[in-house]
Amino acid sequence: MKKQGLGTISVQGGYRAGNKEPRQVPIVQSTTFKYDKADDMGALFDLEADGYFYTRLQNPTNDAVATKICALEGGSAAMLTSSGQAANFFAVFNIAQAGDHIVCSTSIYGGTYNLFAVTLKRMGIDVTFVDPNASEEELSHAFQDNTKAMFGETIANPALSVLDIEKFARVAHAHGVPLIVDNTFPTPINCRPIEWGADIVTHSTTKYMDGHGCAVGGAIIDSGNFDWEAHADKFPGLTTPDESYHGVTYTKQFGQEGAYITKATAQLMRDLGSIPSPQNAFYLNLGLESLHVRMPRHCENGQKVAEFLKVHPKVSSVTYCGLPEDPYYELGQKYLPNGSCGVVSFELAGGKEAAIRFMEHLKIAAIETHVADARSCVLNPASTTHRQMNEEELKKAGIAPGLVRLSCGLEDTEDLIDDIAQALEAC
Ligand SMILES: *Cc1c(COP(=O)(O)O)cnc(C)c1O
Repeated sequence: MKKQGLGTISVQGGYRAGNKEPRQVPIVQSTTFKYDKADDMGALFDLEADGYFYTRLQNPTNDAVATKICALEGGSAAMLTSSGQAANFFAVFNIAQAGDHIVCSTSIYGGTYNLFAVTLKRMGIDVTFVDPNASEEELSHAFQDNTKAMFGETIANPALSVLDIEKFARVAHAHGVPLIVDNTFPTPINCRPIEWGADIVTHSTTKYMDGHGCAVGGAIIDSGNFDWEAHADKFPGLTTPDESYHGVTYTKQFGQEGAYITKATAQLMRDLGSIPSPQNAFYLNLGLESLHVRMPRHCENGQKVAEFLKVHPKVSSVTYCGLPEDPYYELGQKYLPNGSCGVVSFELAGGKEAAIRFMEHLKIAAIETHVADARSCVLNPASTTHRQMNEEELKKAGIAPGLVRLSCGLEDTEDLIDDIAQALEAC
């Protein structure tokens, strides 16, 4: 069969109803599964047979939705997690442990920054943050013998810088480690990092994939392209027997395509249990069914709003890679030719106070710690999501104190712009 398009996969991927079966993905709201024979279940515990026994490890609803996301990203295997934070934590912790090190772009989501800079460090995993615009040679200097992964965001939240995925992939691969890319903002509709060399892709599905501000969730997708065996000394967790799982060697039993996700499921989910409820996976799937229709509309609103703000006298700068004068325009044209996302950042000439007055005068966009929703929302990162950073760290992450992050929803463009205009008038 011809490879299906992203629209068809968004609508129908991951689940196919059999004769007389429900057309919609069934919500299997059950913690456990019944077996007639103890041996049947034993084979599942030994990872020798496919099937379900306990929802903390796997659930049919969650698997159907993970399979759809896997197909959208063009991966070999995928899993859902209870949040984007859990996805990024698992993605790294699956291949790094105490004594190891990762290299990470400075331009990332505040929650991920905290996870890596504080929590991972506390667990003994060291992080070197690098300027994503540095040369390959400069990036190479950050690597150590114990480096296990490189990490970046396709479009950084909230800096809105665009990652040069090919450059990062080349540097990571030259050092024998996988590139992990958080693809939350563009979604696979606008960018598929695996096609540019990323090995593992993560998502906060809470954002555009759900798209309705309905369910917190995450996903990890493995490309199946990284040759763990070729770097066996770096990744013993995948290439040597797991004593906590009956001595299974993940690369031997599940191959290059299945080893990483199977280990993350069998080991990390078993021990840490960050699964989404099947009900939430169902909500996520409803969002995914229209992802390919919603993304172009978010981008259209983002582009028009950015163009309006750019020429407004009270706005000192606008960050949106769809604007030709944006420093990330070229990278955007390369990696995001059909549009980036609906999130626009801008600075008001009047600084932080003006930013707060502006936000409080908006009638359509609401002040929220959220982005990528059908409803427009707005935030001042310095006083909310990134308030744990000091001035210097904020500057490094590209966040000015008076920055406003506006997530353009799916409302009429004209109404959105009218609302922004009247709020600017008032500030
Ligand atoms: C929101 C977000 C996260 C964290 O996801 P949660 O679902 O809120 O845990 C991670 N990465 C990016 C880019 C995000 O925008």
